[in-house]
Amino acid sequence: MRTIDLIAGARPNFIKIAPILAALEHPREDGLRIGCRLIHTGQHYDRRMSGDFFTQLNIPDPHLNLGVGSGTQAGQAAGIMQAYERVLLKKRSDLCLVVGDVTSTMACAITARKMNIPVAHVEGGIRSGDWTMPEEINRVVTDSISNWFFTTSETANDNLRRSGVDRERIFFVGNTMIDTLIENLPRLRKPPVWDDFALAAKKYFVLTLHRPGNVDQEERLRSMLSAIQDGTRGFPVVFPVHPRTASRLRDAGINLAGFRQTPPLGYLEFNYLVKHAFAVITDSGGITEETTVLGIPCLTLRDSTERPETVTMGTNELVGADPANIAPCLNRLFDGQWKKGAIPPRWDGKAAERIVRQLHRLLA
Ligand code: UDP
Repeated sequence: MRTIDLIAGARPNFIKIAPILAALEHPREDGLRIGCRLIHTGQHYDRRMSGDFFTQLNIPDPHLNLGVGSGTQAGQAAGIMQAYERVLLKKRSDLCLVVGDVTSTMACAITARKMNIPVAHVEGGIRSGDWTMPEEINRVVTDSISNWFFTTSETANDNLRRSGVDRERIFFVGNTMIDTLIENLPRLRKPPVWDDFALAAKKYFVLTLHRPGNVDQEERLRSMLSAIQDGTRGFPVVFPVHPRTASRLRDAGINLAGFRQTPPLGYLEFNYLVKHAFAVITDSGGITEETTVLGIPCLTLRDSTERPETVTMGTNELVGADPANIAPCLNRLFDGQWKKGAIPPRWDGKAAERIVRQLHRLLA
């Protein structure tokens, strides 16, 4: 049996691997199956950023946990590379499958490729063009050494072709994060904060912030939060606070009294809130894909996006990082002038099936 390593390290990874693991469970028509060693790097490790996702999304326990824990960009990358290299020295696999754009993605891709193990990148080819984002560097490095690419959009295909990748190595499969959303729509559940905050459908905002560019500069963070508070016309703003943001807010002594803050929510609870929200304000990438599919207006507090289809086709708009842009955008939203949006091609819940079908061919 051919065996792959499937790498996951951080919250968005867990959401992207769940349908791949489920699809790997199904044998091909001839009974052939691909074996899978699930490796958790330990980049996100607490229950709210990791364990809850395994439980809610029925992800089996990882075969191995590299236990890297928190640290600097370089510290985490080095820790993951050393630990994964030890794993591969003990037992090689036939392919390393990485997803997304976190440090674990890049670190494991480099380690595997240097040991002559082929690498396939799920969500390859996306680019923000913003070199201040650690994720952009992870994307470019991972794609520069990957053998095969499973892509979410035509833009990603074009980016890869422009960088010299031949067509035969690119597989336009769709979006595994959306596979998870579609699969779990019937299971979404109302979080306890619904009653605690006395929420009413379409009468509240959801806010998430975690990009270093937004949360690491105290002044920017302060003015962003105050522009959001001023522009949301008294609607409750539910703010599940990412651990990184929580520590920045604490250090800066920023008071969140005007917000309905909670710790990060489980997947089923978070997407229940998104589905019933008036709009979402975020600097996340994955959330802009989910709001596009759910048809919920999304204001992205960044100047660029690696997921342009959420803007050109979906419900997302780049408000920019300048807090002064927030109020005019919110005014348009309250005036009922937000676009309706459409769902990008192949975001149909079948991406993981397509990936596994292709993996069988690649490993044959
Ligand atoms: N998410 C969640 N609970 C939360 C906030 C986000 O389950 O409190 C999910 C969200 O639905 C999406 C993913 O986490 O699937 C996005 O992760 P994040 O914003 O951390 O990463 P990015 O997509 O920006 O890389």
